[in-house]
Amino acid sequence: MKKNISIIGSGFSALAASCYLAKAGNKVTIFEKNTTVGGRARQLKKEGFTFDIGPTWYWMPDVFEKFFADFNKKPSDYYELIKLNPAYSVYFGENDFITIEDSLEKICIAFEKEEKGSSVKLKKFIAEAQDNYNIAIKDLVYRPGVSPLELVTPVTMKKIGQFFSTISKEVRKEFKNERLVAILEFPVLFLGAKASNTPAFYSFMNYADFGLGTFHPKEGMYSVILAMKALAEELGVTILTQQNVEKIIVENNSAIGIQVNGKEILSDIVLSGADYHHTETLLEEKHRQYSEKYWDKKVFAPSSLLFYVGFDKKIENVEHHTLFFDVDFEKHAQAIYDTPQWPDEPLFYASFPSKTDENAAPEGKEAGIFLIPLAPGLTDIPEVREDYFDKIMMRFEKLTNQEVKNFVIFKESFCVNDFVEQYNSYKGNAYGLANTLFQTAFLRPKLKSKKVENLYFTGQLSVPGPGVPPSLISGKLTAQLIEKYTN
Ligand SMILES: Cc1cc2nc3c(=O)[nH]c(=O)nc-3n(C[C@H](O)[C@H](O)[C@H](O)COP(=O)(O)OP(=O)(O)OC[C@H]3O[C@@H](n4cnc5c(N)ncnc54)[C@H](O)[C@@H]3O)c2cc1C
Repeated sequence: MKKNISIIGSGFSALAASCYLAKAGNKVTIFEKNTTVGGRARQLKKEGFTFDIGPTWYWMPDVFEKFFADFNKKPSDYYELIKLNPAYSVYFGENDFITIEDSLEKICIAFEKEEKGSSVKLKKFIAEAQDNYNIAIKDLVYRPGVSPLELVTPVTMKKIGQFFSTISKEVRKEFKNERLVAILEFPVLFLGAKASNTPAFYSFMNYADFGLGTFHPKEGMYSVILAMKALAEELGVTILTQQNVEKIIVENNSAIGIQVNGKEILSDIVLSGADYHHTETLLEEKHRQYSEKYWDKKVFAPSSLLFYVGFDKKIENVEHHTLFFDVDFEKHAQAIYDTPQWPDEPLFYASFPSKTDENAAPEGKEAGIFLIPLAPGLTDIPEVREDYFDKIMMRFEKLTNQEVKNFVIFKESFCVNDFVEQYNSYKGNAYGLANTLFQTAFLRPKLKSKKVENLYFTGQLSVPGPGVPPSLISGKLTAQLIEKYTN
């Protein structure tokens, strides 16, 4: 039976769900509170510069291919993908960095230079990571997190030990060089937790990094959002912006519609791609599944302080993606996860899309995005943002041996308060709910409400978790559940 479906939000997960639901013949409408679609993956354009506001790393290209293939399309029907070489570089001190190139063979050479014998260990580690990738990303993540039994398969049983060890432990068993350890612990940061709190099985992220590589969609990640918007509209989805959903209307324990900008809109199904915690606040308390205490106890992925900077010159000695791991990683991680506070000496990440993409900045100039991961919920005031900008600019100049601050044409910042105000994000988290052992699959907030009929959820606080590829999968899983329970 064709259903009338209202979707809250237009992030990757909501757009993905809308495509599947429209393809199944439903009448689908997206209600987005902001002026443009894309959620955390929106775009900032200023003075001829273009920045992705959120995600910048395009990993796991197979997941995107699979998504478009479900609609008999290919990513290349909508956007051009460039494989980055080098993928990225990591600074450890002044003029001291390791470059990660675009193939395992080349990365092995870089590893061997750092630690004799490490390339053999790396190949073994990545072979195991690939095996995990085949199990997790090609199969397990496409299960809806309804039952623990979803994780019990002959292959996962063989890997059970890896669920009770951590990435950190496994990496440190094999590699002694702290710089190599930091590089191998980096990919799981995308899952939102420390490597010492992430199951070893999640080494599939290392395969995504070294095995599959890092890509850049021409014109940025926002071109993927535009691709999904175009696909959704081709399939008949109606997308409305500046539509703030204020309430989910429930009658006899069943969702019957939403209130948007003061107006009631009735539908058969309500699906929310907004942050899970926020969505539940749109319900009366008796209809919420998870208490404030529940959310407070969860391990959230970091928030971030971001700067989008237009530079009046080309920046030297950096790659498209450059990580700055020249300070104590553990101390910064403690400031995020253990005793939430502003870090004394932050690690940071910088991206220069105009290194690859001439559209990102006017000729002779550079677009720079700087990101400092932070604990969610920190007090966010303009003076503190400014201090941290000065701090990282000084470090950046010293480490990369050049003057940059005097070449700043403009800078825009984005931090905890903006995440809350613009996305209704819980404590201003950037990447949702971390993927720790106890926050995996069936242990995550459910895609289908247990209390309200015809109410569903999708997105990075639900199943399978944070990141763009998981968000695409989350949309598909929710759409499948809706078809299963309402047909
Ligand atoms: C700074 C940053 C960097 C990142 N880097 C990467 C990366 O490099 N690679 C990667 O794979 N992932 C990255 N991520 C994670 C990735 O961007 C997210 O996992 C993904 O975009 C989340 O999509 P979503 O659909 O869950 O939610 P969102 O994108 O948050 O979408 C939710 C939408 O709901 C809307 N909404 C909220 N409340 C309402 C309401 N009441 N009414 C109407 N609409 C509402 C919001 O405006 C928003 O548009 C990054 C995230 C951030 C923030």
